[in-house]
Amino acid sequence: MRVDRVLVLCLAVLIAGVIENRAFVFYLVNPNTVPLAPLRWNVNSTAAHTNVVDRVTKKVRYFIASDAYSAANKTNEINAIRASFDQWSSVPGSKLQYEEGGFVGPQNDTLVGNTNVVFWAKKSLMVNGGTVNLSGLHGWTSTYYTVDGTMLESDIILNGIQYQWFTDFNNSSNQAQFVESVVLHEIGHFLGLDHTPAGGATVVNGPNGIGTQAGLSADEVSAMRYLYPDTSLKWASIHGKVTKSGAAVYGAMVIVDDSAGNIAGATVTRLTGDYDVFFFAGWNVPASRVTVRPADGPKQ
Ligand SMILES: [Zn+2]
Repeated sequence: MRVDRVLVLCLAVLIAGVIENRAFVFYLVNPNTVPLAPLRWNVNSTAAHTNVVDRVTKKVRYFIASDAYSAANKTNEINAIRASFDQWSSVPGSKLQYEEGGFVGPQNDTLVGNTNVVFWAKKSLMVNGGTVNLSGLHGWTSTYYTVDGTMLESDIILNGIQYQWFTDFNNSSNQAQFVESVVLHEIGHFLGLDHTPAGGATVVNGPNGIGTQAGLSADEVSAMRYLYPDTSLKWASIHGKVTKSGAAVYGAMVIVDDSAGNIAGATVTRLTGDYDVFFFAGWNVPASRVTVRPADGPKQ
């Protein structure tokens, strides 16, 4: 085994991991608080109104303005909003969930009303009580919160005055605003994220049409696990040691596949040749699925 090449591989993996894990950006309401108080929903707090956080289901509620963007495509526009919340609700390893509260009438502004509303502005670009100018923005999200960062209400306003909107994912040449992309992005703000420096992510300043914003990236998944960890989720690990001719192998890649051939977890060996691969408990991982892949060819 050529150790120099394996070392390069090891460093590359470590650097990629650091960038991915730190790329997401959350809002710190009070940067000096210990522990840190990022902006987030606290479904166990009684601070938010019951119309905003359901005390029984522990889900964050959202309402949709009944007029959507257009009369002709209203059903698809409303379904695109639902699908966006569903995408954020289904991040594995995160416990934050949303539930649809129903419809509210057409809205003109984001004002505190103990209701989280998603709507298209159609009359005025000046919103948030005249303090925010939507001009040039695809959407904007208001957040109201307490001093410890607990979210009280959030409204998503989409610019229905300056932009055209569409919902057909197969229409990849359309340069109007793809509803699911923009709403997915705005929900990122809705749950406490600022723009990320990760280029392929969703909570970035995105382009028109269908782009990387149409699906959540590993960056958003990491953010959700950080802000809203599912503490009931159990992790499993496999420990082992990689040797060659009795000597420890440093920096070998260890990959654990599940029974269907999907990667459940991976790591590189430490100086001593030892490794610990972590993955979600419940994955069907036979012991025979642990493989070691040095950079200079398959191991004998
Ligand atoms: Zn944004």
